[in-house]
Amino acid sequence: MVKFIALISITITAALFTAGCSGSGAEETPSVTEPVVIADSFAYPVGKTEYVTQQRDKNDDWYNALDFGEENHLGEDWNKNTGGNTDCGEPVYAIADGLITYAEDAGTGWGNVIIVTHTLPDGKKVQSLYGHLQEIKIKSGEVKKRDLIGTVGNANGRYLCHLHFEIREENSSMWDQVGPGYSTDRTDWVDPSDFIDKQRRKHEQQ
Ligand SMILES: [Zn+2]
Repeated sequence: MVKFIALISITITAALFTAGCSGSGAEETPSVTEPVVIADSFAYPVGKTEYVTQQRDKNDDWYNALDFGEENHLGEDWNKNTGGNTDCGEPVYAIADGLITYAEDAGTGWGNVIIVTHTLPDGKKVQSLYGHLQEIKIKSGEVKKRDLIGTVGNANGRYLCHLHFEIREENSSMWDQVGPGYSTDRTDWVDPSDFIDKQRRKHEQQ
């Protein structure tokens, strides 16, 4: 029933939108520009403030337990310093403004995964991926930097809780897909902490 109502409301909205456009008696072609959310400020996906960085590992509450490239890892594994499962259920935040373009249980090995697509000030796009989540808090649509999008989990009991976190470049072969998590071929992936640090430095200079 809820789905049915949602469908009707989408249909009505679409109909109104179409009517609005065609009824404008356009003498010139109206420029239809979709609003683009620009990701001009970045922060790490864990920690209740923006204090957490990889450089401060062990000096803030979180550390990167398996770095990008280590053991062919395509991301970083973020854990609380207190270890074990003490970080289960901790908030996971969007690293920048963007659009959630994937949010589902990706099955064995992955658990719940969210992918956010970010448009950088220069127009290039990147995606941030948040894996093994206990909960998905936001399933679609626009998010702001530091919006609570999910919680740290264990991929349905497969691991000790941690956040598997990746950043992919535009035209990645795994765009909007979960991917292999580990690979000797790291084309299209970037070191997440290095990327965030670089973006933060750029932002500070502005
Ligand atoms: Zn990982």
